[in-house]
Amino acid sequence: MAGADTVIELHQVATRFGDHVVHDGLDLEVRRGEIFALVGGSGSGKSTLLREMILLQRPDSGSIKVLGIDLATLDDASATALRQRWGVMFQHGGLFGSLNVRENVGLPLREHTRLADDLIDAVAAWKLGLAGLAPEVGAQHPSELSGGMLKRASLARALALDPELLFLDEPTAGLDPDGADGVDELVLRLRDLHGLTVVVITHDLDLLWQVADRVAVLADGKVQGVGSMDELSRLDHPAVRPFFDGPRARAAQTQERSAPSKPR
Ligand code: ADP
Ligand code: MG
Repeated sequence: MAGADTVIELHQVATRFGDHVVHDGLDLEVRRGEIFALVGGSGSGKSTLLREMILLQRPDSGSIKVLGIDLATLDDASATALRQRWGVMFQHGGLFGSLNVRENVGLPLREHTRLADDLIDAVAAWKLGLAGLAPEVGAQHPSELSGGMLKRASLARALALDPELLFLDEPTAGLDPDGADGVDELVLRLRDLHGLTVVVITHDLDLLWQVADRVAVLADGKVQGVGSMDELSRLDHPAVRPFFDGPRARAAQTQERSAPSKPR
């Protein structure tokens, strides 16, 4: 049974595309205030699972509860209300090229609140700051930004409505090590200062070792193991070993943690 601290609960989730079984009776639980990482090979169903958790797609069977609400039973009004309680940063940013960054970040506020335009701009500027971007960036268009800045702008938009839950799909993919470090620290800071629960899809070893509280390994349609990286290191499933064996994996394990320590 899930406790009061459970914010996401998946039970026996099954997803197929035609004959292709992606999730085959998958169980998963995310607790309040944790940074929960989802890892697994390419095509193992991570992004599909995320899409199911944020109401973009339905599983063929099984149940998904987010913030205590069963997603299968939602009417349109409750779905709209629930969507405002989470923020999502998509793998490829998902910003609108025709809008500048400030307008992109303000978009959720325009859609879901009746705030005046100048207040929306002020909130957008503040969220850009939270995401580590200078105010001037607001006037730029997505095509003018570097990969790292795009990820941050996308994060600022995900934070627009003060979400309780943040979903990140590959937040450090394609960034140079400095950019990736910055995003790692940002995720930690958001959790520590704002009490966010974070679900992050990643294969970034530094993020896994230094930022994630718990990690779930997805393979063959199921979660093959879940726990801290230390706990997972004792499993000998073939989907789990690549995160611990090999020179890059070993280097990540021994690195000093540079970000502030986790409150526990
Ligand atoms: P991951 O994010 O772990 O790389 P995905 O969740 O994107 O994997 O995809 C899991 C599997 O489901 C892949 O084999 C992919 O080709 C397939 N898939 C995802 N979305 C669709 C779709 N809309 N139609 C058909 N197949 C899909
Ligand atoms: Mg994916």
